[in-house]
Formats: sequence, structure tokens, C-alpha cells
Amino acid sequence: MKSNKSIIYKLVLLAISTILLAQPQTTIETTKMSETLYHFKVTTFYPVSTLASIGPDGILLVDPGMEQSHTELMKVLSELSDMKVTKVINTHSHDHHTSMNKYLGESAEIIAHAASTELMRGDLDVLVEWPKKAFPSTSIDSETSFTFNGEEIRLIPVDGGHCKDDLLVYFPESKVACTGGVLKSGSYPMVDFARGGDFRNFAVLARNALTLFPQDVTFVQSHGDNFNYTQANEYVERLDRSIPLIKKAVAAGDTPKKMIDENILSVVADSDHAYPNRNFWIQTIHRGLSMENNGVKKSLTAPLYHALEKGNGNDASKVYRELKKSNPDEYGFNENVLNTLGYYLLGKNRLEDAVTIFKLNVKEYPKSFNVYDSLGEAYMNKGSLWRARRNYKKSIRINPKNQNGLDMLEKLSSQ
Ligand SMILES: [Zn+2]
Ligand SMILES: [Zn+2]
Repeated sequence: MKSNKSIIYKLVLLAISTILLAQPQTTIETTKMSETLYHFKVTTFYPVSTLASIGPDGILLVDPGMEQSHTELMKVLSELSDMKVTKVINTHSHDHHTSMNKYLGESAEIIAHAASTELMRGDLDVLVEWPKKAFPSTSIDSETSFTFNGEEIRLIPVDGGHCKDDLLVYFPESKVACTGGVLKSGSYPMVDFARGGDFRNFAVLARNALTLFPQDVTFVQSHGDNFNYTQANEYVERLDRSIPLIKKAVAAGDTPKKMIDENILSVVADSDHAYPNRNFWIQTIHRGLSMENNGVKKSLTAPLYHALEKGNGNDASKVYRELKKSNPDEYGFNENVLNTLGYYLLGKNRLEDAVTIFKLNVKEYPKSFNVYDSLGEAYMNKGSLWRARRNYKKSIRINPKNQNGLDMLEKLSSQ
């Protein structure tokens, strides 16, 4: 399933690649922020921020976004300037902010935190299939600045908040700061443990980041509206107050459910965003603390991907079963791994292999509505309509509110 709900799920898990989004619609809202700076709210299933400096030196993009948005973004840029994109800055390497590097890396300089390349080359990104040209050509390991379009641009690496390759990008003359997933408004942090995110020091890190900017700065966040200093300060205060409360409850042996049921964060001003909300934040810290005891799990995607590269869905299933038998605690087994892999295969038009992988997911997680929904989609792509119908029906039986399944069944009944 790749409906809006699964996109929220996607954002939450930070694990599914944008490869899943085969041919999405893109809309772009443009806001002029200063003489040279433009903010684009690029929505391809969900909104992401891109910032552009446009002037006589050419175009510089901060977080160019998903490769699927490429045509639309280039169209908008061509309406603003005849110049080419010559520089790209990545605030971190999550592929929904950077897979456009695949197009731009040919001719533009790609600037990113020194830890980005290692992450992009690693097991976590195998499904993104980065070409060499998409990797950063300039790595930042300490604060630095350069001038572009007559304006100073400051780059400040932050080691591990949202991910271990967070980079703050500040335009002092325009008083605009791109803070990626470090400073936000209206929500709680998203911490990607697998990519070196740090929940423990998040509040300190965010507070330190805030001190770098003047009170009249405008912040640009990865997802969501631009915000001001007061809102950033509220966010940091939420972290300051919530983290000790959650840690205390975890130390007392409370489960996330108990903490949520008892509303332990009721004394903290709530965020006005649906995700990540205070419940998600409780789960994040609980997970982080238990990971400190049990260690971070290895990526299961990589060995399955390599099996698929050499063979087919059955080979990957075999590897899955072997690893589950021999290393059940070493790898991160969850339904999302196989679901993501299945969509990767659908995107490659390897329909038979996608069905094999989704079927394995159904076998492994028979109580999940989403696994049947995904298998239904694979059968639909294959033209096996009655099998598609059967799986969507199973999905709806488990979750009658599965709107994607209901829509698909309606579509199938008219065929
Ligand atoms: Zn991110
Ligand atoms: Zn993001």
C-alpha cells in the first residue's frame, strides 16, 4: 500500500525509499523569501522543502528533493532564471531530499556533511541505487562559508540529531536558515537511529543550534511550513521538558502504551502536527533506550537486495528464512522491510518477484492489513484481478478503514 496513510508510515519509519513512488503527481508552491532566495514546497505524495538561491552566479539548491519531482522543479526554476543549477547542498542524505542529486550531480557541485557519502554507500541505501555522480563532491566536516549570488552562505555541520550527517545552512543577509530535521516547529523530532540520529542529546543539540541565529531569522524545515525564532524556542522547550519525563518512566519499567495511556506528557505543551506527535516521541525515546541495551539491528534489506540482484524472489525468500533461523536477533525483522522490497520490485516491473516477496510478507505477518493490500496491488499490476480482489478483501476484513483497499476494490469491481 502506498496511499497517504502509508506515506505517513513511511515518514515515520524513514526506511522506505522514494523508489516506491512510481509516477506521482507533483505540485509546487513558490514563496520569494529575499532578493535571491525562493522557497518551494514540493509535494509529491507528501510535502518537502527546497530552497533556491537564484542570481548572476546561477542556481544553488538546498535539498533538491525527490528524483520524481525533477521535471516539475526544473520547470519552475526555468521560469525564474535561464541559469543552470551549479551547486546543491544536502541538509542530510535521506533520499526523499537528495535523490534529485542523481540528475544534478552530472554538472553541479554537491555539498554535504562529511558523513553523508558513507551513509549513501552503505547498506541502508541499497534500494536507492545511487550512481557515483550523486555522491557529494564537497564534504563539510567543520563550519565553513562561501559566497554565492553576492551573499554569504554558512554551512554548520551538526553531528547526529536527526541523522549523523545533519548540516545547517544559513544565509545571514537574507536571515534564512535551513535546519532540516534538527530545528522544527509544531512537532517532535524524528530520530533516525540507523543513520546515527541521537535522541539523548537532541534537546542540547537543538538548543545549541538555536543560539547560532538571530531572533528575526526565518527557519526552513524539511517538512512543514517555515517558522520563526519563537516557534523554534517552543520546540526546544518541549524537548527539554519531555525527555526527562520519558526517561524517568522508562527507568521505572513503563511501556510506551502505559506512558501514552497515563498521558505523562500532559504538562508539556502539545505539538499541533499529527506527526511526529508526543506519542511518537515517547515511542522514539523508549526505542532508543532499549536499543542502547540491545544494540542497533543490522539492515535486512541489503542481503535480500543482493540475493535479488543475483537471482529472483525465491532466492531472496530463501536468504530471509535462513537469516531468520540463524540470526533472528541480529537483523531488524519487520513487515516494512519486505513491503519496501516488494515495491522496489514493482517499480522495476519485476512483478513475479514482487508477488513472491509480498506473499512471504503475508506468511510472516498474517495479521497486518497492509501486507494483503500490497499483495493485492502486485496482483493487480500483473493482471490477476481475482487474486487482487481476494487480497484487498482480506485487507479490509482486518482493517475496515483501509481506504486504499476500499478504493481499489471499487475500481476492480468496475473491471
Ligand atoms: Zn530526514
Ligand atoms: Zn525528510
